[in-house]
Amino acid sequence: MDKEPTSPPSDEFKRELARDLNDAFEVTQFFLVYQPTIDLQTSAFAGVEALLRWRHPRHGVLAPDAFIDVLDASGRIAEVSRWALATACAQGSAWHDKGYRFAVSVNVSSRQFALASFVSDVANALNESRFDPSLLVLEFSQSTLAREEAKATKKLDDLKQLGVRISVDDFVPGSSTFETLDSLGVDIVKLARPFVADLLSSVNSITLVHELVRQSDAHHVQVIASGVEDAEQRERLANENVHAGQGYFFSEPHEASEIDRFLEDFAIFSGKPL
Ligand code: C2E
Ligand code: CA
Repeated sequence: MDKEPTSPPSDEFKRELARDLNDAFEVTQFFLVYQPTIDLQTSAFAGVEALLRWRHPRHGVLAPDAFIDVLDASGRIAEVSRWALATACAQGSAWHDKGYRFAVSVNVSSRQFALASFVSDVANALNESRFDPSLLVLEFSQSTLAREEAKATKKLDDLKQLGVRISVDDFVPGSSTFETLDSLGVDIVKLARPFVADLLSSVNSITLVHELVRQSDAHHVQVIASGVEDAEQRERLANENVHAGQGYFFSEPHEASEIDRFLEDFAIFSGKPL
C-alpha cells in the first residue's frame, strides 16, 4: 500500500483526480499513516512522521506523489493543511495520554507554508489538541525555506515562538551551511533517501555525514536518516553517530491503531524505553 508509483502520474490521471477532489473532502477519503523513527544510539522509539493518503474509490489507496500537485493547485490546500495538522496533533495528544511521549512530524508544502493563516493554523491545532508544542515537528524542503526568504524567516520565528520544532527534509550534507540553518532556526535535518541509499558505496558520502554530525552536535541540530532499508545501513549510520533513522528496515508507515500495536511489540521485543 505504501509503495511509491514507478512513474510520475500522467496529466490525464491528474485531471481525473482533480475532478474527484470534491468527493474526497465530502466523504473524508483522506487519512494519515505514521512511520516510526528510531533512535540509532539507544534503539528507543523516537517519534513518527505523519504521511497523507487518499483512499480513492476507484484507484485504491494513493500516496501523495500521485496527488499532492493536484491538491496544491486545487485551492483546497488550506483545508487539507488544517485537517492534517489537527489530526496529527490530536493523535499525538492521544498517544501522550496513553503514556507515550514522542515527536510527531508533519510535512508542509510550499503552498501550505505560503498561506497567510499557516502560523495561526498551527497554533489552533496545538490549542485544540493540547498537544505539547515541543513534540510537534514541521518538515519543510530546502526550497520551501529558501523561497521568499524574508517572509519565511518571520514565519519560522513565529512558529518557534509557539515552541514547535523545524526540520529540513531531503537534506544533502554540504548543501547548506550551519550559518543558514541556524538563522532559520532549524532543529532537525533529515538525510535524503537517495543519499542514504548510496551511503555504503560512497566514501565521499560517509565523509560528508561524518562532518555533518560533528557540526550538528555543536549546533544542537539532530540528524535523522530517511529510507533506512537494511541492517548494514543502520549500523553504518549508527557508527557515524547519526541520531535517528526512519525507513522500511524499522517499519513501513501504518495507521494509528497499528502503530499502537507496533509500540507494544517494540517495548516487549526490544526491551527499550518508548
Ligand atoms: P517524504 O517527506 O520524504 O516522506 C517519506 C517518504 O518515503 C514516504 O512516502 C514514505 O512512505 C517513503 N519511505 C519511507 N521509508 C522508506 C524506505 O525505507 N524506502 C523507500 N524507498 N521509501 C521509504 P510517501 O508517504 O509516499 O510520501 C511522499 C512525499 O509526499 C513525502 O516525502 C512528503 O514530501 C509528501 N507528503 C506526505 N504527506 C504529506 C502531507 O501530509 N503534506 C504534505 N504537504 N506533503 C506530504
Ligand atoms: Ca518528510
